[in-house]
Amino acid sequence: MRWDRTRLPALAAALRERLGAAHVSGEPERLEPYGRDESDTGTFPPDLLALPGTAEEVSAVFALCQAHGVPFTPVGARSGKSGGSLPLHGGVSVSLERMNRILALSTEDLTAVVQPGVITGDLMKAVEAVGLFYPPDPNSWEWCTLGGNVAENAGGPRALKYGVTRDYVLGMEWVLPSGERMRVGKNTIKGVAGYDLVGLFVGSEGTLGVATEITLQLLPRPRHVVTALCCFPGVLGAARGLAAVLAGGLLPRTLELLDDLSVEAVARRGVAFPPGTGAAIILEVDGNHEEALYEELSRAGELLAAHGALETVVARDEVQREKLWAARRVLSTALRALRPHKISEDICVPRSRIPAAVERFKALGAELGLTVVTYGHAGDGNLHANILYDSPTERPRVEAAIRRMLEITVQLGGTITGEHGVGYAKRDYLPLEQPAPLRALQVGIKRLLDPSCLLNPGKIFPDP
Ligand SMILES: Cc1cc2nc3c(=O)[nH]c(=O)nc-3n(C[C@H](O)[C@H](O)[C@H](O)COP(=O)(O)OP(=O)(O)OC[C@H]3O[C@@H](n4cnc5c(N)ncnc54)[C@H](O)[C@@H]3O)c2cc1C
Repeated sequence: MRWDRTRLPALAAALRERLGAAHVSGEPERLEPYGRDESDTGTFPPDLLALPGTAEEVSAVFALCQAHGVPFTPVGARSGKSGGSLPLHGGVSVSLERMNRILALSTEDLTAVVQPGVITGDLMKAVEAVGLFYPPDPNSWEWCTLGGNVAENAGGPRALKYGVTRDYVLGMEWVLPSGERMRVGKNTIKGVAGYDLVGLFVGSEGTLGVATEITLQLLPRPRHVVTALCCFPGVLGAARGLAAVLAGGLLPRTLELLDDLSVEAVARRGVAFPPGTGAAIILEVDGNHEEALYEELSRAGELLAAHGALETVVARDEVQREKLWAARRVLSTALRALRPHKISEDICVPRSRIPAAVERFKALGAELGLTVVTYGHAGDGNLHANILYDSPTERPRVEAAIRRMLEITVQLGGTITGEHGVGYAKRDYLPLEQPAPLRALQVGIKRLLDPSCLLNPGKIFPDP
């Protein structure tokens, strides 16, 4: 994408005038972190950083970028794994980090109104303090933002029972690429007036505008949660066990799968596994009656034992529970300690196809001489298949493996991204899943809302 860089000084001056000099930066050391995220796809620093503090300011930043013909890219906490916040073509990074207030919390309506820069974990804690529950729990909840969650339609371990971010967004204040502000959606649980624009905007990966205010639905907090770690000799048994639990009429709130190398990485964080463990499942149930939860666990234990579970250990207390989840949350990072390079895929298959996916990914690794690690929110079919490798010279083989993995996924009836988004990382693979007319329809929507294609160019679809 070409744009006129000589317009930058004039744009910088206009942004400083509108936001104040403290909230606009062109200093390389301030810009550098905004050129990276957790996707391992490279570094693309912006030319300018703008930090609007209100929806009016977001709107003004967008309008100024449009007027100067300079690309602009929204950014949350940069925990994204598909490169969505990377300003591929430079221009302005528009960070929502200053807009970080919980504006309202209603225990009567069971709703929260938040600004987009609120950290997901801060909302979770605030609603739990008043007896409510915000279920979407991306494992990055300690630092990702709700705006980023909306953009990626983030899921998490609890999606198995409770669904993903889209299931909790009732309405939003939205700033279109032109800078125009509007409210979409509603404040009520039901409401079908007009097209479902919330459905379109949630998951639009920062390419159709930004959320400047989000109204979220909450649930009553379940009174009890019980967590168990089920250990298996190998990953195939675990994958089959997991499918059996779901087919057995049980709906735990999480069923997280760890294969042999994931178990090794988690063990390094101090979680003890019985000897011979080559795979594990973290199973969690919740509800208001503790006894019923232990009954569910016991039924799940029987089904898992029938598929070769070595042992099922129930977390004794909150400390043990949190230790297990803390190890799971850092798993993605911990795997980097095993090998210098890692590429993480985020596929989703129909749940019945999980054992087939795990088996075929391992076989692919063996065929290509690559280490494949599979873990993830397998209860809903969402697997994180990672390739670990030693040197950048192996990259062509790794790229070939990724393509084959995604082809296998689509053959199994799955999708190339369950929750991390297409962004920059997967835009070249989208044709594996979606035919040309479907892609063209979506490019048409993008063009309608952003005719200049200045908002977050190069994401989801190749460059305009
Ligand atoms: C260790 C680790 C674990 C993770 N676990 C999970 C998981 O379990 N489930 C999951 O779904 N993801 C997971 N992720 C991925 C990531 O955390 C999510 O995609 C998250 O939603 C990104 O939020 P962010 O604030 O960091 O957004 P960023 O990475 O900064 O941006 C992501 C996208 O959102 C856009 N954006 C940012 N703010 C707004 C806004 N206000 N309006 C519109 N668009 C906006 C950006 O342009 C970009 O396209 C994990 C990441 C890590 C590093």
